Amino acid sequence: MAKIKNVEAFCKFCGAIRKMELTGDVAGDDNKRWAKCKKCKQTMIISISDDVVSQKVSLDGIENETYVTYSPTQSYEVGQNIFHENWNDFGKVVSKEILSNGQKSIMVEFQKLGNKKLIESFIKQQTDQDKQSEVI
Ligand SMILES: [Zn+2]
Repeated sequence: MAKIKNVEAFCKFCGAIRKMELTGDVAGDDNKRWAKCKKCKQTMIISISDDVVSQKVSLDGIENETYVTYSPTQSYEVGQNIFHENWNDFGKVVSKEILSNGQKSIMVEFQKLGNKKLIESFIKQQTDQDKQSEVI
């Protein structure tokens, strides 16, 4: 199983907070991890307690937890596990957003595909004919 853990941490090469991928443990020190900066591609040891500003949800083993199969017409909660059938990928809802057209969307962190924006509560646009036939 792919072990993906993304964090935002201070990159000493960039001198800024960057998105990083944790690539491995440091033997004998639980607080340190090998991390690769997604911006400068440098690999370094970071301190979980000092350098990490936000730790993304752990996706380890979520396929064994309760999950729902994604459908654009459903709505979801932050923290919910979802399974995307077409992509055959499990993910966790990390945030929700309303798009400029009023459509609701969710940001999902997937095990294999990473961050993806998906539509939720999708409502089919009414056609003109539907509107005309509406009787109030
Ligand atoms: Zn960097």
